[in-house]
Amino acid sequence: MICARCDKPIREDEDREKVINHGASGAGSTLYVHTRPCEAPPRQSYLSRRLRR
Ligand SMILES: [Zn+2]
Repeated sequence: MICARCDKPIREDEDREKVINHGASGAGSTLYVHTRPCEAPPRQSYLSRRLRR
């Protein structure tokens, strides 16, 4: 799976955090991010700003 914050793959043996993305159009989707603090890419999406620590 792909990390929603840094856009890099999360490996099977890495800790991940589940994030519910409440979309404006209904059900929303489940995303994952690294549990370790990872760097968001320079162009920041709305989601990566929210997840910034
Ligand atoms: Zn990440």
